[in-house]
This record gives sequence, C-alpha cells and structure tokens, in this order.
Amino acid sequence: MEIGIRRWGLVVLVLTCLIGRSVAIASDSDTQHTGNSFMEKSLIILKPDCMQKRIAGKIITRFERADLSIADCKVMRLDEKILNEHYAHLAHLPFFPEIVDFMGSCPVIILILEGDNAISRIRTLLGPTDSQQALPGTIRGDFGTDKMRNIAHASDSKETAEAEIIRFFGKK
Ligand code: ADP
Repeated sequence: MEIGIRRWGLVVLVLTCLIGRSVAIASDSDTQHTGNSFMEKSLIILKPDCMQKRIAGKIITRFERADLSIADCKVMRLDEKILNEHYAHLAHLPFFPEIVDFMGSCPVIILILEGDNAISRIRTLLGPTDSQQALPGTIRGDFGTDKMRNIAHASDSKETAEAEIIRFFGKK
C-alpha cells in the first residue's frame, strides 16, 4: 500500500517537472521568433504639431493598444546638429530648412517602442507622409495637417531604427 502511494507520488513529481519544462520552453519562444513575427524596436518622435495639440497621450494610447511597449522615453528639444543628421536624406530638397525650423520649434517626445514586427506595424498605424492622403483611422489621417505637420516620425527599417536609437539615446 505504502509502495503504491510512493509510486503515485513519483508519477506526480515527474509529470509536474515535465509540465513545468514545457511551460518554460513555450515562454522562452514567446520572446524569440515565432513564425513570421520578430521582436523589433523602433524610434518614434512625437513632433511639435503633436505636442502643440496636446495629443501625445492619445497617440501613445494608439501604440499601446496595438501591443507595442515603451522601452524608453524622453522629452528633448532637437537642435540643428541632430536635425541635420536625422533628415540628411532630405537635405537637397527645397523644404529642408522649413523642416529643421519646425522640428526644432518646441520640445518633442522621443520614444523607443518595442513589439512584434514593430517597424512596419507602426508605419501602418501612422499612414503615409502626407496627412491629407492618410486614411481615417490612421494617426496621420485622424490628427495630421499636411505633409510636414504629420504628428509623428517612425523608423522605416531595421537599419534606420538601430541608427536612430543610437542617435537619440546613445545605445542599441
Ligand atoms: P516619413 O516621415 O513619412 O518617413 P520622409 O522621411 O520622406 O517621410 O520625410 C521626413 C519628414 O519630412 C516628413 O515626415 C515630413 O514632416 C517632412 N516632409 C516630407 N516631405 C515633405 C514635403 N513635400 N513638404 C514638406 N515636408 C515634407
């Protein structure tokens, strides 16, 4: 009788260990690649038009509702040096001085957002550069004004995200 109880005790112990192990394996794989999804970080700037309209909270809520987490955040007034670097790809365009003026016109919120396929999903949540072309339901469609005043910047690739995170936070 006692041996029977011991044997059952052993079976329960082994089962508990096996279940615990499979839960640990499942939660490990949640933080890595599952199918086509990748944990990514993206650099977001809530631009001066967003700050002046006092809708930063609404925009951040949209990101959080899309299962994106804030990995880092700060308020910063962008100077000419960092803006020249950040918008170097537009330096040859006639509206470049206007962008530098606009982006430096008041302190902005810089965020690192993290989540599955964060980079492309955030760009979809934003909508296209021109707020007038952005559909209702997108952030720029609902809150943006025009091509320049379009509420938020978001990294457009893994490479730019890495460079922008180093540019604004000095880390990977
Ligand atoms: P996005 O921010 O959508 O990635 P770009 O990298 O092409 O777009 O441009 C950077 C920013 O420069 C835009 O978000 C916008 O604020 C401004 N911009 C882009 N095109 C124009 C334009 N034709 N006129 C005025 N501002 C522009």
